[in-house]
Amino acid sequence: MGAVTDAVKGFGVTFAHMFRKVVTTDYPFEHPKTAPRYHGRHILNRHPDGLEKCIGCELCAWACPADAIYVEGGDNTEENRFSPGERYASVYQINYARCIFCGLCIEACPTRSLTMSNEYELARDSRKDLIFTKEQLLAPLLEGMERPPHAMRLGDSEKDYYVGALTNPGTSAGAEHSTMGPGRGHLHDTAGVQFPGAEQQADRAAHHGPQAGVADAATGKGQA
Ligand code: SF4
Ligand code: SF4
Repeated sequence: MGAVTDAVKGFGVTFAHMFRKVVTTDYPFEHPKTAPRYHGRHILNRHPDGLEKCIGCELCAWACPADAIYVEGGDNTEENRFSPGERYASVYQINYARCIFCGLCIEACPTRSLTMSNEYELARDSRKDLIFTKEQLLAPLLEGMERPPHAMRLGDSEKDYYVGALTNPGTSAGAEHSTMGPGRGHLHDTAGVQFPGAEQQADRAAHHGPQAGVADAATGKGQA
């Protein structure tokens, strides 16, 4: 008798589900909407004049529990300026084979350069392709922005860029206007952009093999 009751209960659950709203989505033809604060792939934001907000300080890399970020800092000069102030990131990589999307790197970033989009389509066929470079992570150039390197257009010193940057959204541009967020977006390809770091990487790769000069996909460690 107990077995019959259990079976009826079981069928009751099945029957009840037949009248519920279907949750299956027709992915990849329809893309499910994420929560607004979903942790997706990262974006390196820009100032409204196009200069990069990243100053190559490596705090994000030190904060990362998965050792997924690799940064090499470079010195800005008046002729070759990528960000306000002294330093910029000549190499910036995030290894998505290691990233656990915890967001600690975002918390650590002193300039609000690093934020996360809602982009979740990060599967790749090769581990090497999971290492996203600075060129891939940088926010797109919006109207009125100028591609670095160029002089500071918004003031005479970096203070003009950073004072009030945390409370005044006008001093940050990129993530909120990016094609990748808010909501689902596409990988923005900044093809043709050449950074000094990219050149060094290509040079090292030519001499030491394709993995040289980039964070290793298996260990996440940068190689000399
Ligand atoms: S989200 Fe977490 S795991 Fe991913 S790069 Fe940032 S700190 Fe590292
Ligand atoms: S993203 Fe932020 S924390 Fe990371 S190197 Fe750039 S400025 Fe520093």
